[in-house]
Amino acid sequence: MAYITLNKKHFFNNLDIIATLTKTKDKIALVLKDNAYGHGLLEISSMAKEYGITKAVVQLESEAVKIKDLFEYILILADTPKDPQENFCYTINSLKAIKTFPADTRVELKVNTGMNRNGIEMAELQAAFEMIEMQGLQLEAVFTHHGCADEVHPLYEIQKHNFSIIKLNATTLAEQKGFAPLRFHSCNSAALFREDTCIEDMARVGIAAYGCLKTPFSSKEDMLQPVLALYAHKISSRYLPVEGYVGYGATFKAVQELMVSTYDIGYGDGFLRILSNNYTTPDGIKIAGRISMDNSSFLSKEDQVCIFNDAREIAPKAKTISYEILTSLKPHLQRKIVE
Ligand SMILES: *Cc1c(COP(=O)(O)O)cnc(C)c1O
Repeated sequence: MAYITLNKKHFFNNLDIIATLTKTKDKIALVLKDNAYGHGLLEISSMAKEYGITKAVVQLESEAVKIKDLFEYILILADTPKDPQENFCYTINSLKAIKTFPADTRVELKVNTGMNRNGIEMAELQAAFEMIEMQGLQLEAVFTHHGCADEVHPLYEIQKHNFSIIKLNATTLAEQKGFAPLRFHSCNSAALFREDTCIEDMARVGIAAYGCLKTPFSSKEDMLQPVLALYAHKISSRYLPVEGYVGYGATFKAVQELMVSTYDIGYGDGFLRILSNNYTTPDGIKIAGRISMDNSSFLSKEDQVCIFNDAREIAPKAKTISYEILTSLKPHLQRKIVE
């Protein structure tokens, strides 16, 4: 069966580099949404706990429930309480949503500073504080998310400026209302590496921890090492005669006699079909023909091939980003931690 390896040394190396930027492990909030970016939620969470990570970020409460005993604090980005635990904190993504949280829920307020995806508008800050007070919620933090931290675009500085205003105003409002002191956070991986240091209370780090951050800015990101590699096993081998075809649509035709083997990885596992006839593995083995649901063919007779070991390298060939390469990998693939 095709399988994934998770390199613990690489993961810890990445966390070491991130910790030099945040100054302390405690400020790292490891982003574990989407099955820990395809790596495996429980596998990554257990390694993170061993390393000393205490904070996690997920999309859904159902993800948080699976890792509730492994972290001191879990931020849920987009869900309402159904099975709340004392270490869960829920995100307010709009004014309207405030009424959906029961009294005493631990919440963080997301503010839209220019990405225009989620969060209350900047002008709604005071109204949000009033509604949070009326609802009796425990507001712990105010945060925002960057749309251009990994791009050369003026929006990055505009969002930073907007968030600095929000921090001042939120601090004043919290004092006026007698709320506990607030925490603030805005950095994803790209912003943390771009800033080179974290002056806020926390950084929400995903892709850098998995070793696949790629931006035009930071030299430190070159020291990150990809955690995940994907391997497939041979199902069968054969000689292709001259002019023999391979796979659906007969899109590959041999110009000379060739050895071709089928491996147990396909688009149903997350090996993207767009790579059909257009991919060479890290060991120089060429793909032949279309990727099918559970199979793909390579010009090789090896019993096992490494399909990829650096999502940053395969991503441009698939016209996408490393995030999509990784999150495409299905949960049914076996995950093995290697030391
Ligand atoms: C996914 C996500 C992150 C992590 O982003 P990376 O680029 O992987 O570091 C941080 N914050 C929010 C709100 C997110 O949705």
